[in-house]
Amino acid sequence: MPKKVNKCSFCGRSADDVRLLISGISGYICEDCARQANAIVEGAYKSEGKGHNGFDWKKLPKPTDIKAYLDQFVIGQDDAKRYISVAVYNHYKRLGQQRGDDGVEIEKSNVIMVGPTGTGKTLIARNIAKLLHVPFTIVDATVFTEAGYVGEDVESILSRLLQVADFDVEATQRGIVFIDEIDKIARKSDNPSITRDVSGEGVQQGLLKLLEGSMVNVPPKGGRKHPDQDYVHVDTSNILFICGGAFDGIEAKIAQRLNTHVVGFNSIQHVAEIDRGNLMKYIQPQDLKSFGLIPEIIGRLPVLTYLNPLDRKALRAILTEPKNSLIRQQQKLFEMDGIKLTFDNEALELIVDKAVEYKLGARGLRSIVESIMIGPQFEMPASGKKEFHVTLDYARQQVEKANIVA
Ligand code: ADP
Repeated sequence: MPKKVNKCSFCGRSADDVRLLISGISGYICEDCARQANAIVEGAYKSEGKGHNGFDWKKLPKPTDIKAYLDQFVIGQDDAKRYISVAVYNHYKRLGQQRGDDGVEIEKSNVIMVGPTGTGKTLIARNIAKLLHVPFTIVDATVFTEAGYVGEDVESILSRLLQVADFDVEATQRGIVFIDEIDKIARKSDNPSITRDVSGEGVQQGLLKLLEGSMVNVPPKGGRKHPDQDYVHVDTSNILFICGGAFDGIEAKIAQRLNTHVVGFNSIQHVAEIDRGNLMKYIQPQDLKSFGLIPEIIGRLPVLTYLNPLDRKALRAILTEPKNSLIRQQQKLFEMDGIKLTFDNEALELIVDKAVEYKLGARGLRSIVESIMIGPQFEMPASGKKEFHVTLDYARQQVEKANIVA
């Protein structure tokens, strides 16, 4: 009897003629037909008015859902998470709004997050984009210079978003852009300078155009604009911009402002009410202006929120609590080799101590964990052993060996 050859139930090609044949209960589908079916499904969603990845405005998660989602990945930073959840919700509501029905047009709610580096700004933005299934890109404001100078044009922000969206302009126009280090393009002094300020105000002016919402000619390949290049026209009015920056020294501006409201000795009580340890929570748009952002930019970033520095308790939580925490990631790596990885609580505390000692913040946790785990990661997979336990002594030895430079 001839050997039975499995065939794709859609195109009839046999298993030998296709790269991949997936079996179902009573049939098979080949890789090509699966791809084609996927394209048909995507197309059907688009014609129903649902966007990229079947995005449906009415099914948008509510602010409390968005916050709960962020809670799985981002420790603390409750204020920032609440502000962002509301801003994102309003932004997408605005997209779903039927224009002109009652004359009320909801304005865009771009966001600015102020807080020390490594406290979760990018992490929040990244997870928002993941939740909403929209194209997302991170750009660093320091690479931009004013048109006509060496460096990238601000329009290249959109080239990146376009690339992430596989050149689907419609999806690009609903994307999220995270602009990091926005504080680095602040004007160096509060007075407009007479000489040209290449890295500061000119870039802010360029950025303003994008934030306001306008039709922008985007060089699809990025880089500088070139007369011979074909441009893609992208409307930025529905792109959500989330900006982040450390704004080093802004506390002094906040303190200055708070103090000027306090007149004479009698107001000492008022001063006592202020939490001097965390001035950031009193941040106001005018502090950004004192720092050197132009008022027009500040006006286009109406949602202003702050992030707290991470203390020891937060660092300890970051190590194990988030859904994809560093420790869970390590355990997963070992699990894939059939090895159960465990840690002594004291070993975890040591990792946190070192991160605090080296002043490396949350970013430092990772390099410390890696330095402890490099040995077992190298030896365990081929060892045939089924368990690895990290004790305090072992962790300490490895950290000492690693010579981490603070
Ligand atoms: P920044 O504020 O400079 O944008 P990131 O969001 O990039 O900092 O944080 C760097 C890394 O540190 C993240 O990828 C994450 O692993 C960790 N991290 C920082 N803050 C938090 C937090 N609040 N909760 C969980 N992890 C955090």
